[in-house]
Amino acid sequence: MLPPATGLAKRSRSIAHGPAPRYGLPMDVDVAVIGGGIAGLAIAAWLAPHRDVVVLEAEETLGYHTTGRSAALYTECYGADPIRSLARASKEYLLSGKGLVEPRPVLFVARPGRTRQLAALHEESLLQVPTVQRLTAAEVHEMCGAFAVEGTDGALLEPDSLELDVDAIQTSYVRTIRRSGGTILTRTQVDAIRRSRDRWWITGNGTTLSSRVVVNAAGAWGDQLAATAGVAPLSLLPLLRSVFTFTSTHLTTQWPFVVDVDEQWYFKPEGPNLLGSAASQLFSEPHDARAPEIDVALGIERINAATDLAIRSVRTTWAGLRTFTADRIPAVGFDPDAPDFFWLVGQGGSGIMTSPAIGELAASLILSDTIPQRIAAYGVTRESLDPRRLR
Ligand SMILES: Cc1cc2nc3c(=O)[nH]c(=O)nc-3n(C[C@H](O)[C@H](O)[C@H](O)COP(=O)(O)OP(=O)(O)OC[C@H]3O[C@@H](n4cnc5c(N)ncnc54)[C@H](O)[C@@H]3O)c2cc1C
Repeated sequence: MLPPATGLAKRSRSIAHGPAPRYGLPMDVDVAVIGGGIAGLAIAAWLAPHRDVVVLEAEETLGYHTTGRSAALYTECYGADPIRSLARASKEYLLSGKGLVEPRPVLFVARPGRTRQLAALHEESLLQVPTVQRLTAAEVHEMCGAFAVEGTDGALLEPDSLELDVDAIQTSYVRTIRRSGGTILTRTQVDAIRRSRDRWWITGNGTTLSSRVVVNAAGAWGDQLAATAGVAPLSLLPLLRSVFTFTSTHLTTQWPFVVDVDEQWYFKPEGPNLLGSAASQLFSEPHDARAPEIDVALGIERINAATDLAIRSVRTTWAGLRTFTADRIPAVGFDPDAPDFFWLVGQGGSGIMTSPAIGELAASLILSDTIPQRIAAYGVTRESLDPRRLR
C-alpha cells in the first residue's frame, strides 16, 4: 500500500523549530506543504520518500489547531459516500501501525420517535458496512447504562469502529518525513507566495524558498492562504464545534462512542471521564477557537435530556474548526487555474480517520497524476475530490 515507509533518505534533515534560519535549509524543494496539521503531515509522509519536501507550520506545535481537538473516532457510517470510502481505504494503515487505534464500537442512538431516522441510517450503512446491527432499547441499556430502557427507541451498532490515537498517527507521519529526509519547520507563518519562472516563491519569517509545487493544507485558513498566492478561493466553511469533559458515577471506560442518530449530541469515554458535545456547527472565521459557554451549556442540556448522566459541571472544554466545502467532500487536487497549486482542504469532521488514504492519494496525484488502484478499488474517484467542481 504505502510508505509511510522508512523510505530512502535523500538528505538528512529534521524538524527545525523556530524561525527558519537563513542558512542550512533547503531553499529549493520539489514540494512545499503549508500547514502542519494531520493533512499536511500525511501528504508529506507519502511524498518525502520520493521528493524533496518541506512542511511549513505557523504554530510552535504540529497539530495545534483542528487536528489536536478532535473526538478521535473512526467510523464507516458517517458523511458522504466518498468520505466513507476514504475511511475504509484508510483502515489498513491504521490497523497496521503499533498503537494507532483501539476498538471502540459506536452506537447511533434513536431518541423516542426517531425510529425512521435509525432505519434510514441502517439501510444506508448496510451497503458498505455489513456488520452494522440494530439493537433494541434493552440492549442499548445493557451496553450503556446511561440510558433507561424507555429512554430510547433502540440504536444502530457499528461494532468495528475505532478510537484513534491522534498523537500516535501524527507521530507516525512525522517519523516517516524525517527518516525520508524531509524538513518540517514550525513557527513559520507563510505570509507571501508568488509565482515566477515556473516556480512558487514562498516567504515566511523573512526567509524565501522556492518550490515546484505548493500544497495548501492550511485547514480553516485555506482560502486565506490561496488569496496570498493570488489563487481564487474555494469558499471554505469553517464551523466551530465545542467539546467538554465531565465525570460520571458510572463505570464508563468500556462504553461505546454514543451519538444521537440526528447528530444532536455525542459522548464517549475519555480516560476515566466522559467527553461530550452538542455537535454544533457554528460559522466562524479562521481563528484559535475557544468553546463558547453557551455551546457547552447546550451540550450539557441535550445530553442530560437524553440520558441519566445528570451532568452538573465540566472539567475541561475546548473547540475546533471543522472546515467544509460546499458539498461536504474534501477538495484534493490541483487548482484548475493556478499551475502547480495543490488543494488539500475541506476534510470537515473526518480528517483524522481519512488521513492515510487522503495522504496517499494526494501524493499519488502529485507524483504520477493518478490515484492508486488500491484506493480506487474502494470506489474513490478523483472527480469527486477535484477542486474544479467547487468553482
Ligand atoms: C470537535 C471536533 C471533533 C472532531 N472529531 C473527529 C473525529 O472523530 N474523527 C475525525 O477523523 N476527525 C474529526 N474531526 C475533524 C478533524 O480534526 C479535521 O478534519 C482535521 O484535523 C483537519 O486537519 P487539517 O490538517 O486540515 O487542519 P489543521 O489541523 O487545522 O491544520 C492546518 C494547519 O495549517 C496551519 N496554517 C494555516 N495557515 C498557515 C500559514 N499561512 N502558514 C503556515 N501554517 C499555516 C495552521 O496553523 C494549522 O496548524 C473533529 C474536529 C473537531 C473540531
